[in-house]
Amino acid sequence: MRTLGILGGMSWESTQHLYALINRGVAARLGGLHSAQLVLHSVDFAPIAALQSAGDWAGAARVLGEAAAGLRRAGAQALLIATNTMHRVAAEVEQAAGLPVLHIVDATGEALRAAGVSRAGLLATRFTMEQGFYRERMRERFGIDVIVPDEAGRTEVHRLIYEELCRGRFEPASREALRAQVAALAARGAQGAILGCTELGLLLPAGADAALPLFDSTELQARAAVGWMLG
Ligand code: GLU
Repeated sequence: MRTLGILGGMSWESTQHLYALINRGVAARLGGLHSAQLVLHSVDFAPIAALQSAGDWAGAARVLGEAAAGLRRAGAQALLIATNTMHRVAAEVEQAAGLPVLHIVDATGEALRAAGVSRAGLLATRFTMEQGFYRERMRERFGIDVIVPDEAGRTEVHRLIYEELCRGRFEPASREALRAQVAALAARGAQGAILGCTELGLLLPAGADAALPLFDSTELQARAAVGWMLG
């Protein structure tokens, strides 16, 4: 089994879920007492979130790059960045560590393509929805058009992620608000909805009743990780 390095804690609510999914995936493939061989660097999320809000992506890249280099020294052979948003600095992390990142857009894009989705709605942090790094890679590598909620919708989803989900609050009213965003994306022609923030699937899991098929980035990232670890 190859050794995976995970940059986690962004937030720990989703990292603990990812950790369980990867271990279950390895156990399902190998059976018995097998579990995932990995090293995890779990950050304090507050300073990272402050760097995001300040737009200090270079600062965030430095913090994650140092952590990633540590993962390499601890034996990691490839990296998982356990958040969509921080893929904003995936290239810097790869360079600092000298290791490849198993990219979350690639894991998600492959699932969308397999499902025949060519126009997808994206629910994520404001950074992921509004900056180019996510949508451009999806278009360039997979030919998939990504649409996002309107300004009010983006504000609502972003608030939900930082004020509730990253703090371990999962409210029925917020689940309905998320369902409404999925329905709005469906009305604009999306054929699938990307849960492009690693906490969203904790509120509205893939397979839940919704206007569109849901693609949970955490689940897809876990699947890609297991595939890479076991070859
Ligand atoms: N986990 C979230 C994501 O997938 C948001 C937290 C963060 O900004 O890293 O984007």
